[in-house]
Amino acid sequence: MESSVSIVKCKDYDEEKVLSALQRAIDLIGGIQAFVNKGSRARLGAKPRVLLKPNLLYGKSPEKAVTTHPSVVRGMIQIVREAGGIPVIGDSPSMGGLIRAAEKAGIKTVADEMKCPFVEFNRPILPSKVEGKIFKQLEIDQAVLDADVVINLPKWKTHAQMVLTLGVKNLFGCVPGPRKPLWHLRAGESRKAFAQILLDIYRVVQPSLTILDGVVGMEGNGPGSGDPIPLGLILASKNALSIDLVVCDLLGIPRKSVPTNQVALEDGIGGHSIEVLGESVETSKISRFALPPPFAVTWNLPGFVRKALKNALTSKPWIDDQLCEDCEHCAEICPAKALQKTSEGLAFDYGECIRCFCCQEVCSSGAISIKPGWALKIVGRRQKAEKSDVAPSLIEGGELMRNIKLIIEYDGTNYQGWQIQPKRPTIQGMLEEKLSRLMGERIRLTGSGRTDSGVHAFGQVAHFKTQSQMDIRTIQRALNNLLPPDIVIQEVEEVDESFHARKHSKSKVYEYRILNRNLRSAFHRGYVWHIPQKLNLMEMEKATQSLIGEHDFSAFRTVGSPTRTTVRRVTRAEWKRDRDGLIRFEIEANGFLKQMVRSIVGTLVEIGRGKIRAADFRNILNSKDRKEAGPTAPAQGLFLKEVKY
Ligand code: SF4
Ligand code: SF4
Repeated sequence: MESSVSIVKCKDYDEEKVLSALQRAIDLIGGIQAFVNKGSRARLGAKPRVLLKPNLLYGKSPEKAVTTHPSVVRGMIQIVREAGGIPVIGDSPSMGGLIRAAEKAGIKTVADEMKCPFVEFNRPILPSKVEGKIFKQLEIDQAVLDADVVINLPKWKTHAQMVLTLGVKNLFGCVPGPRKPLWHLRAGESRKAFAQILLDIYRVVQPSLTILDGVVGMEGNGPGSGDPIPLGLILASKNALSIDLVVCDLLGIPRKSVPTNQVALEDGIGGHSIEVLGESVETSKISRFALPPPFAVTWNLPGFVRKALKNALTSKPWIDDQLCEDCEHCAEICPAKALQKTSEGLAFDYGECIRCFCCQEVCSSGAISIKPGWALKIVGRRQKAEKSDVAPSLIEGGELMRNIKLIIEYDGTNYQGWQIQPKRPTIQGMLEEKLSRLMGERIRLTGSGRTDSGVHAFGQVAHFKTQSQMDIRTIQRALNNLLPPDIVIQEVEEVDESFHARKHSKSKVYEYRILNRNLRSAFHRGYVWHIPQKLNLMEMEKATQSLIGEHDFSAFRTVGSPTRTTVRRVTRAEWKRDRDGLIRFEIEANGFLKQMVRSIVGTLVEIGRGKIRAADFRNILNSKDRKEAGPTAPAQGLFLKEVKY
């Protein structure tokens, strides 16, 4: 694949100069007709609807260089109209509505003068065809997908998390504002994961043309509070990624310095040759440009060390009280709720903070800046001294795929057991559905074993693999919010990649509850086997002793259930009588056959009723014949209590 990028010089925002620079930049790569006359309306001979997507981070006057300059928007409205398109302006600012942001940025005046309407992004939909590497779903605004043509109008700025915000990053604005923090949460602390999301959005939106406003860019503490810097350039390409790669060349930094470029190059989609037209890279080089502080260093340390040294190894946001205006926008936007208002002012919880820098991005007072941790400072100094060409963004490392262990409590009354079944409610099915929704990718859950229809659990264990970097406390909180009240996630833990909930379990503990009294219970009925006839617990206990040790439990399993071996080792089996007639049977073994606990309990109850002699229990066990044993106890009295590893 080859693509072309045009570079045109433009000294200032004089409207005529900008218009002529835009026209030249577009002509160099094929002329506006090649980009506007697309889509179903154009094929039917109607005027195509062209969405202009500027950077409208929030409302700031044009000279602050936070937003795409109104002269660029004006020029593009005119160019699109002359080419026969119907332009509309759309974006989803981080704070405040689109119109308010456009007013302050001078874009509303231009739009009003040119009678160009706005379209606010507030209708998130899940496009059907997402070939995302991590997430198989993305939320894009309906208006973006409805447009025949999208023209991307980014501003050249620094960005604390993504190093630079250019063509690819600008399209994150196609995700409606209130949904953006969720995508930051999904990416968690991994810049690579967030970069992958941005790249996937770019692939779905597929802007037909990208024009980068680099007449005056922003350096330093971008994208909201950096310093404007005259760069005097406009870049155009049908490939936003190519623009981002060429900007790195212009700044003299490795292309992989920008995480979206890095991910694209690793995916093999950014390695195409780029033809530069108009000005050359050499004659347009930017000799001085302040990048944001480095993001993180990991030295490929193990996860637990990285966690312990998080503050030393990463940059973190920091508030200058002198500049803070107490608007609390930063706390409102924080996806991890790591920034809270306290009696002493705003306070960060750096343990919870995922380093997305949304707080710094929305602080229009410039009160939030980024401070590197001490280890990061050392690396920065050493790189400077060694004149290393490894850019700060590259010193982030680490594996994207994570293995997450869940401990789950559930009331099995309304489910057809643990294992997923088509069109039937199951615990695994419910969990996979909610997890997939939360993580934005198809999640497959592996449990420690199945439980039958109507069986409950205090401590079922399952694991799943994910590339989402959402932190574990957020997974627990958000998943519990999504789940129905009869399933609760008790614990979430990030475990070694090799951990397997079923294969690595050493033993399981089951508990069976019997209500042995005359009257049934209005409250316990779904969770006990009610037996009004008095049971002889002493005889049952005597028989229970035969279970201890390694035996072939064929006599106590569902006939025909396939298994490699029917031998299991029972390490503990005991009865406890509680108050109010509740009797509990607890059994621990290295594994259980299908309906083994319920068959054992059913047989022991027959002994308690005097129908089978305690002395015969061992013979039943040794017979390996299911017909010799008693009935299967009902499911509702059984609980999977614990899985041990
Ligand atoms: S730090 Fe910035 S965003 Fe946060 S309260 Fe202060 S002024 Fe507002
Ligand atoms: S405190 Fe700032 S950087 Fe940390 S999670 Fe919240 S918004 Fe992101």
